[in-house]
Amino acid sequence: LIAGAPPVIEVDVDRTWWILESDEAIALLETDPKRGLDATQVELRRQRFGSNELEREPARSPWLIFGAQFANTMIVVLAVAGAITAALGEVKDAVVIAAIVVLNAAIGFVQEFRAERAMSALRDMTAPTARVVREGRQITVPAPELVPGDLVVLEAGDVVPADLRLLEAPNLRVNEAALTGESLPVDKQSGALAAGELVAERTNLAFKGTAVVYGRGRGVVVASGMATELGRIAALLGQQRSPATPLQRRLAVLGRRLAAAALVVCVVVFAAGVLRGEDVSLMFLTAVSLAVAAIPEALPAVVTISLALGAQRMASAHALIRRLPAVETLGSVTVICTDKTGTLTEAKMLVERIWTLAGELELTGSGFEPSGQVRAGDLPHLPEPETAAARLLTVAGLCNDAALIAPSDGGDWSVAGDPTEGALLAAAAKGGLDPENLRRTHSRIEELPFDSARRRMTTFHQAPGGELAACKGAVESVLDTVSTVAAPDGERPLVGVRDLVLGQADAYSQAGYRVLALAGRLIPASEPQDRAEQGLVLYGLAAMADPPRPAAQRAVEACRRAGITPVMITGDHPATAAAIARRLGVLDHEEVVTGATLVEEHARGLADHVERVAVYARTSPEQKLDIVQAWKSRGAIVAMTGDGVNDAPALLAADIGVAMGAVGTEVAKEASDLVLTDDDFATVVTAVGEGRRIYDNIRRFVRYTLTSNTGEIWVMLLGPFVGLPLPLLPVHILWINLVTDGLPGLALGVEKAEPDGMRRPPRPPAESIFARGMWQHVLGVGLLMGMIPLALGIWGSATDRPWQTMIFTSLAALQLGNALAVRSERHSIRSLGFATNRPLLATVVFTLALQLAVVYWPTAQGLLTTEALSALELGVVLVASTAVFWVVELEKAIRRRFRSRPGTEGPGG
Ligand code: ATP
Repeated sequence: LIAGAPPVIEVDVDRTWWILESDEAIALLETDPKRGLDATQVELRRQRFGSNELEREPARSPWLIFGAQFANTMIVVLAVAGAITAALGEVKDAVVIAAIVVLNAAIGFVQEFRAERAMSALRDMTAPTARVVREGRQITVPAPELVPGDLVVLEAGDVVPADLRLLEAPNLRVNEAALTGESLPVDKQSGALAAGELVAERTNLAFKGTAVVYGRGRGVVVASGMATELGRIAALLGQQRSPATPLQRRLAVLGRRLAAAALVVCVVVFAAGVLRGEDVSLMFLTAVSLAVAAIPEALPAVVTISLALGAQRMASAHALIRRLPAVETLGSVTVICTDKTGTLTEAKMLVERIWTLAGELELTGSGFEPSGQVRAGDLPHLPEPETAAARLLTVAGLCNDAALIAPSDGGDWSVAGDPTEGALLAAAAKGGLDPENLRRTHSRIEELPFDSARRRMTTFHQAPGGELAACKGAVESVLDTVSTVAAPDGERPLVGVRDLVLGQADAYSQAGYRVLALAGRLIPASEPQDRAEQGLVLYGLAAMADPPRPAAQRAVEACRRAGITPVMITGDHPATAAAIARRLGVLDHEEVVTGATLVEEHARGLADHVERVAVYARTSPEQKLDIVQAWKSRGAIVAMTGDGVNDAPALLAADIGVAMGAVGTEVAKEASDLVLTDDDFATVVTAVGEGRRIYDNIRRFVRYTLTSNTGEIWVMLLGPFVGLPLPLLPVHILWINLVTDGLPGLALGVEKAEPDGMRRPPRPPAESIFARGMWQHVLGVGLLMGMIPLALGIWGSATDRPWQTMIFTSLAALQLGNALAVRSERHSIRSLGFATNRPLLATVVFTLALQLAVVYWPTAQGLLTTEALSALELGVVLVASTAVFWVVELEKAIRRRFRSRPGTEGPGG
């Protein structure tokens, strides 16, 4: 302990914090109400109270993962059978079986361990953050790092990171549905309470996991982690395992059915052998080995591994997956509803034109740098203090919460805060105003903040000779507050020039500018100071450009090619929205609908023509929910982007909720499945492509494994009928299944996206993994894979050659050919490029070498009961074993020729 460090407080989490005054709470928690805790205190408290997290399933230890590889019924039966064999004196077989099983476990372990690590890294990346005051400075930390006594700052959109006793809560409103089920927001306050039996009554506390929907606040952490109210509920419910994904569930069901079928086959093989008079224990071991080989127990695990590793890849492409099943759903997305500002555009807005009744001004200079100029178009002078333009710029500077940031090292000027306001601030600075100075000389008395329903903001300031009202916002909204318009010769009534103003605004909007109207009024000290948004003077319009993101247009094209409909939802003006949408290719012949029409349409059933609308303008966040639901009722799989608190319901309702990582609120992130760390629309499209790739990979793996297993079964089942009573020994079966089959199967997982992965329509989400001809493929190619070794075996045994080794080697080689061909469902290996999956090529070569070693290396010959093949025998075996490769390539060629609509061929369901 550091000398002089305050003793660790014994916070009693059961304390009735709500009946205390806030300073009493602060005192009990030994926190400085201004500076917060210092580093030493934080460290000590973290040791004492632990991490501010709800307990979750502890990560599995490597040993546990390794152990789990053996927790497989058939492996256990095999081990027992092996032990019995050993006891009967066949030690060699038992050792080989054990070695193969361990090797297989090692392969499984590596995969699962990687997947587990990927998942936990992902969890850390998506951990919520909290704003906290420590050592006098406000910093952002991961929420799990909070300790009792920390001073937390809350803003609208935050998820409350721990249980807090509120110190300040002016207009703070919190939605506590997560805790109490009450969906209406609760008004919070900071005074002491007399009673607080029920959680809902404790209005001076803010609870972990609840959402700040309005206002600001500050509070001190009184309970963290499992000691919070949310923690108590979680403890009551007990730990929940993460539920299986839909695909996992489907594959588990399928696995059980196949297992039952395989068991029947094994029983037949066993019974037939015994009836023929084979050794019972050998037949038993054979049947068990066959069961191990034929039962695809690993399928659900393969899904988890593919999804987890895929999620990890996506994270490096700026797409953080918050829920694993989302990776699966991504590939079937049919509609992407996206915000405009910041997602399709860069949100680096710049005012380019200013319009007043005196004419138009053009702003020059580079970016946000305040040294630019306001160049007069048809005006004789730069804005002079008394002109409308000068007043407009004053309003722009005052009715504004953004800040201009000077470049630190030769970079560009930037803005902090709302991009719209940043643009106006830069404009004011270019017009020669010093925003800092302006704000100092006109201190703000009151404000009516911006919200996306009102679409305007008004501030009131101290000014020489009275009070100044400064108002800015969407043109139609500001005009509601205006009675006159500033003109060179004084003021004119709005009625006379309204059409002129609207016409100009429309012209700007059509050109793709975001247009804001700016108005104000000096209320002389002699007049009664009523701070209402009325009777204002319109100074003019500011037109700002918001360039589309460079990758957006290509991403929209990619969407269309992939059969996905992009839909733009924005709060901006319909003409602006349409102009940008057209530039990006979102809008072609479809309709533009405004929020107001949406309200009417909703009554008449938006669902009926939702497919015809590409752009929704002047919408409120709540309307996003209507749009999601309308699309969903048409059977669409919808991805929806969002960033604000009000977007949460739509994000939850969408099949894939997508939150903005940079500008999004915690509430939006919590409600989403995917978080974009770069806020870029193109990233959503990339993620969809990745989702499709992952699904294709899983399908490929299933196809490969089941075909191989079927081949093994055919050999064992048909062997006796063609005079080969025991075509393969148990160790051969295990070797083929676990080694020559297992390694290439792994390498298939790193296959790149198919060239047409994003050029085909989305997969119907309910489509069976066996759709599109997979069953036929598995049975047909599996049969071929069984016939070739048997044919070789017949030839071998008739000509007195080592026929069993020939069958064994042929079956192994067939797998490798299959692995190469199965890389794509329709593209030939030539068009894919032979070496484009290097790991696969390497494993194929390596596995072939292993197989040859087993055939020619004397020690291995002894262990696996093989004999060396002559050059002729080996040559014939290898050439014949390329058959599956050729046949699958041929199948693909036929598929390409008779290209039918995907999703409609083959048995579904
Ligand atoms: P998108 O939905 O594409 O992201 P957006 O989020 O920018 O667009 P809103 O923020 O809801 O849309 O803005 C709607 C309208 O409100 C804008 O077109 C503009 O006219 C006005 N507006 C935007 N920001 C402000 C602000 N800070 N102050 C006043 N008015 C604003």
